[in-house]
Amino acid sequence: MMFDKFKPMADFQAELAERSVEPFGAITEKILSATEGVVQGRNVILAGTNNYLGLSFDPRCIKAAQDATALWGTGTTGSRLANGSFAEHQALETEIAQFYGVDNAIVFSTGYTATMGMCATLAGPGDVILLDADSHASIYTGVKLSGAEIIRFKHSDPEDLAKRLRRLGDRAHQTLIIAEGIYSMLGDVAPLQEIAAVKREYGGYLFVDEAHSMGVMGATGRGAAQAAGVEADVDFFCGTFSKSLGAIGGFCVSRHAELAAIRFCINSYIFTASSSPSVIASTREALRITAAEPELQAKLWDNCNRLYQGLKSMGLPVGPTASPVVAVAMEDRSRTIDCWKALMEAGVYVNLVIPPASPSTNFLLRNSVSAAHTSAQIDAIIAAYAGLKSAGLITGTQAH
Ligand code: PMP
Repeated sequence: MMFDKFKPMADFQAELAERSVEPFGAITEKILSATEGVVQGRNVILAGTNNYLGLSFDPRCIKAAQDATALWGTGTTGSRLANGSFAEHQALETEIAQFYGVDNAIVFSTGYTATMGMCATLAGPGDVILLDADSHASIYTGVKLSGAEIIRFKHSDPEDLAKRLRRLGDRAHQTLIIAEGIYSMLGDVAPLQEIAAVKREYGGYLFVDEAHSMGVMGATGRGAAQAAGVEADVDFFCGTFSKSLGAIGGFCVSRHAELAAIRFCINSYIFTASSSPSVIASTREALRITAAEPELQAKLWDNCNRLYQGLKSMGLPVGPTASPVVAVAMEDRSRTIDCWKALMEAGVYVNLVIPPASPSTNFLLRNSVSAAHTSAQIDAIIAAYAGLKSAGLITGTQAH
């Protein structure tokens, strides 16, 4: 039967319903601020939003979106190639290229279509793609569409990357190497200095998805490559407007002038409607604020360190370093669901992550930190985890 393969998911849904939990697609009834909402009838601190700089509620971004709606209407009703290229889209492309100090940029309707479209288009039949084994679904989907030979290297392992490039011999020059800045599930940062050194030695093109690191790392918020000082080695940067910039949309920037031609070869750019003017306008404002107010990044990291230290000192299995994504690794699915539910009851909304979305066999209670969290809110999140511990739902000894 065609539908047999969906049975495990149907069974899992039934199990969740029986236990009265709805971790996937829990309905947010009201958003009160960047860090508070009413979810399933409960006032909660939002600790799973990816709203790293808290800009979704910045009055300047809201005003820009409102003004743009009044001026341009609610939607473009067409793709960039048809009727959907407004002056707003072009202005954002100029500004995001300037933000990265390069000449070429493409704005996409979502981060997913940006990353997927670039990965599907840059390398083709006869080329090779070397991607980090823990890459995001948008990367995996894209590379499958590319027609290139696909090889995975061990997660964040530059030596394994070098070994595989060495084996390729001359074909190394025709290879697209793909990594992310901060990995979305565990919050670990890619060793971009080492990866860039490998690329310099063997050749190829380096593509970095800065979805979770833009606005979060680097002196001017350009991401992990800027923080590592290796931007000159990166051929293509992709990212999203849905996290630090508080809206929706994606981008690719590059110093390669060929991006102008590549633009017209990307299906996920050509055959989908362009972003609404309000979204583009708030993104432009958020980008301006990100560049002008580095104190937001500093506040974010204060909060990251506070949450990380709080959970770590309780003995919880968090990652090796503080990060805007703080994930608590769990081994038992049923126990993880109990913890998610108990956190909701304690007024804290986090992300429940199950394989294959989590990169190992672990289940995760994934917290994401915002510059807009107050210290008191971070302490309340820590206290909610302490509650799990005293209720015996979580111990300090689970392996990460
Ligand atoms: N790349 C990575 C690494 C991501 O984590 C995500 C979203 N989680 C995306 C791309 C897609 O971005 P968006 O949700 O804005 O479409």
